[in-house]
Amino acid sequence: RIVYLNGAFLPEHEAHISIFDRGFLFGDGIYEVTAVLEGKLIDSALHMARLERSVREIGGHLPVSTDEIVAAEKRLIVENNIQEGLVYLQYTRGAEDRNFFYSDDLEPTLVMFTQAKTLEHVAAVEKGLKVKIVPDQRWERRDIKSVCLLPQVLAKRTAKAAGCDEAWMVEDGFITEGASSTAYIVTADGRIVTRGNSNAILPGCTRLAVLQLAEEAGLVVEERPFSVEEAISAQEACLTSASNFVVPITSIDGKPVGDGTPGPIFKRLRALYMENARKTAI
Ligand code: PLP
Repeated sequence: RIVYLNGAFLPEHEAHISIFDRGFLFGDGIYEVTAVLEGKLIDSALHMARLERSVREIGGHLPVSTDEIVAAEKRLIVENNIQEGLVYLQYTRGAEDRNFFYSDDLEPTLVMFTQAKTLEHVAAVEKGLKVKIVPDQRWERRDIKSVCLLPQVLAKRTAKAAGCDEAWMVEDGFITEGASSTAYIVTADGRIVTRGNSNAILPGCTRLAVLQLAEEAGLVVEERPFSVEEAISAQEACLTSASNFVVPITSIDGKPVGDGTPGPIFKRLRALYMENARKTAI
């Protein structure tokens, strides 16, 4: 596999990062994951806008323009012959002798690599995913897509131990989001409920696209927190993320959601999203 490291395209075994990199020592970095379908980037502009925002929020600066980043991602897709999969990007503040205080003239580290993966025709779309409820143990700036993912790693570990596929994190009785996805429920009267963007959640790129498409299609969207009880008694539930697009959730903490099968609102959202994703892919 060919990977990108600070302007160079290298075989993966030749790409090395310093043990003093602040991403490694402090988790002082930002990442993005963008889906690839039919060799094209999905929602690329949304991911680049969020990347710029995250980097700005930690007082960093991208070493190259987002146009150059997109060009590099496209080159990796071609060189690695990726038809379907992911492009991972990581920015860190750079490497220097360990010190919480960082030098202002540090050269950032920028890494990109591809992962071939089936995203569209996966069993989860028909079967649905199982969700485990866990406490949200993260910090107060979840709007920044930081590489400090230990709380999410532990949440996934708890979910897996319970035989589940994803963790929904709870704060003060309300779901914030999934460990690596945005959380939605559908009420008995067909309203789509998902938490509004704030520092409490990551502003999902897939979320942004899906909500716009839902509203254009005349579906009712309510952006508000929902409780664990409301989730368990919901008609439908689903999640969105770049690597899953839209997938249904058929059980929460071992209890079936609705009749335990993927519902019509999910199917509508998935169809709307996939059509738009192909239309806007670059
Ligand atoms: N929320 C969290 C905590 C995530 O980690 C992710 C994706 O990794 C999402 C939401 C979904 O965001 P996106 O749709 O941009 O992939």
